[in-house]
Amino acid sequence: MRKIFEVSDMCRSFIPAFLTSLRGLRDLFFPRKCVVCGRVLAAGEQDLCPHCRDELPLTYQWDIVQNAAFERLARRFEPEAAAALFFFRQQSDFRKIIYAIKYGGRPDLGRRMGQLLGEKLKGSRQFRDIQAVVPVPLHPLRRWKRGYNQAEAIARGIAAALDLPVETALLRRSRYTKTQTRLRGTAKTRNVADAFRLDASRSVQLQSDGVRHLLLVDDVLTSGSTLAACAAPLRAAGFRISCATLAFAG
Ligand SMILES: [Zn+2]
Repeated sequence: MRKIFEVSDMCRSFIPAFLTSLRGLRDLFFPRKCVVCGRVLAAGEQDLCPHCRDELPLTYQWDIVQNAAFERLARRFEPEAAAALFFFRQQSDFRKIIYAIKYGGRPDLGRRMGQLLGEKLKGSRQFRDIQAVVPVPLHPLRRWKRGYNQAEAIARGIAAALDLPVETALLRRSRYTKTQTRLRGTAKTRNVADAFRLDASRSVQLQSDGVRHLLLVDDVLTSGSTLAACAAPLRAAGFRISCATLAFAG
């Protein structure tokens, strides 16, 4: 009997050491790189190198009530609160974070960046009474093509930081709309208007559970037309809506 314990104790100390050396080997053959500048990451660094992490152009919108995200959305509907994590400019290398999450098969990065945003919202008075996190839904066909919904990955990170549930059954994308990134202004608004449908029975169930205030989550806040199109059926059903995105397109 004693011998078996000794063997299992040995395995217990051996396995983590073995996994660490495997990770070391993986890093040697497939070096992990900073998403923004491409510098090879050191052991213990993740996603962004220390320099890019320091330079991330944070918005601090979680500390400001009438911030630029709120003002942009307020032209379309009345959000309770709104905030993005960082500024996003076409010329900036930080746009690579969004591209990796959206088109680069990196939902893990979305979740970790979402968690970073969630930590900021956690200390903010404006976001304190949120009860559930709702990602902007993807059409099932696009979700199938991409393999995941990037807004849901971000929402999961935010929800983990705020210790809240993620609600994916409430909203559905009913139309397969064109990719928003190639559209501008009114074309964008027309493209998403009425694209989202509420699941009425889920809505009744949440409200009977006392859920009133939802946090809508998307990857980028550009014109605000997608968030407004999502907010419309939710507000009509009596929910209060706040919004959070990773990036604020300026
Ligand atoms: Zn970097």
